Amino acid sequence: MSPLPHAKLANYQPAGEGAERVTTEEADSGATSWQRDLAGAIRRTDDLLAQLRLTPADVPEAVSGSDINFPLLVPQSYLRRMTAGDPRDPLLRQVLPVNDEHHDAAGFVLDAVGDQDARTAPGLLQKYHGRALLMTTGSCAIHCRYCFRREYPYQQEPKRRNDWNDAIDALTQDTSISEVILSGGDPLMLSDTRLEQLVSRVDAISHIRRIRFHTRLPIVLPSRITSEFRSLCSRMRSQPIMVVHANHANEIASDCQETLRELVCWGMPVLNQSVLLKGINDTAADQINLSRSLIDIGVMPYYLHQLDRVRGTAHFEVPVEIGRHIIQQMRTELPGYAVPQLVQEIPGELSKTPL
Ligand SMILES: *Cc1c(COP(=O)(O)O)cnc(C)c1O
Ligand code: SF4
Repeated sequence: MSPLPHAKLANYQPAGEGAERVTTEEADSGATSWQRDLAGAIRRTDDLLAQLRLTPADVPEAVSGSDINFPLLVPQSYLRRMTAGDPRDPLLRQVLPVNDEHHDAAGFVLDAVGDQDARTAPGLLQKYHGRALLMTTGSCAIHCRYCFRREYPYQQEPKRRNDWNDAIDALTQDTSISEVILSGGDPLMLSDTRLEQLVSRVDAISHIRRIRFHTRLPIVLPSRITSEFRSLCSRMRSQPIMVVHANHANEIASDCQETLRELVCWGMPVLNQSVLLKGINDTAADQINLSRSLIDIGVMPYYLHQLDRVRGTAHFEVPVEIGRHIIQQMRTELPGYAVPQLVQEIPGELSKTPL
């Protein structure tokens, strides 16, 4: 593999400072094809609109999206699944920065889900019995405008191997934890080498029985699912489980669809969680189509999340009543296993709260 030219990286703006360090190291050690795909992602609103043959007049609410902590970021693979000329495209609307983001709405705060109170060691969050979550990196391959961790202080979290010692010690000492969730940001943003370093340390803890990858990369950057990743999973003692994040049936197409199918064929349990989003997937038809697209390739719907009330995301909120009505409609048209659980994350509760 030829090394990733540094020139290309110059305009790569990851969400967190630590992420940048990882990316730079990858560049030094030679980039793989998914890293080149990431370097080729769209980072400017005008480029995004131009590629979709939209003019600023078609989407007057669009803004430049150059916020330093959460700039526009869209991989080409995801862009190819959008419909040119459609300003309401449900994939476009997940990633397009609009002026509503800058309106403060009452009740929409920085840490809506109580992450900071759940932090038990650097990089380690525990809210629920038996499961703990590792904040593996601050970076993602896409910036979803409704992201519940768009304001998470990632700079305080581990970056290098030894920074993880306290979290690994805490997991080793607490035998009540049987499942570790790799989250972030997106854990698959780590290179296979770095992922292996972390996974092997968790996998070596004998009371850990399952390791869950919470990742959107199979959806937005399918080339990330490498044969090295497959081989890492096959060497694990504990059971890997993958929870992906797709919100609309149009995402389950082409390279994404093939990659999900491949994961399922490897024997990987693959579940999907989505977020109920105004104007994107807030009708029964949208959710039924999403569930059908998933189950047709063996991916199981898991959670449909009520939006977390994070600052700058109020324009995505759908009333809980509509969510309940959608679930009722889904029950009448789909097999029981295809209906996700509608849940909300309420700080201080002992599980996600069913609505
Ligand atoms: C959502 C979440 C989990 C996972 O909960 P499940 O219901 O097991 O999917 C675990 N830890 C934290 C901190 C979470 O936010
Ligand atoms: S992939 Fe997940 S963590 Fe990353 S921006 Fe989207 S919602 Fe946030």
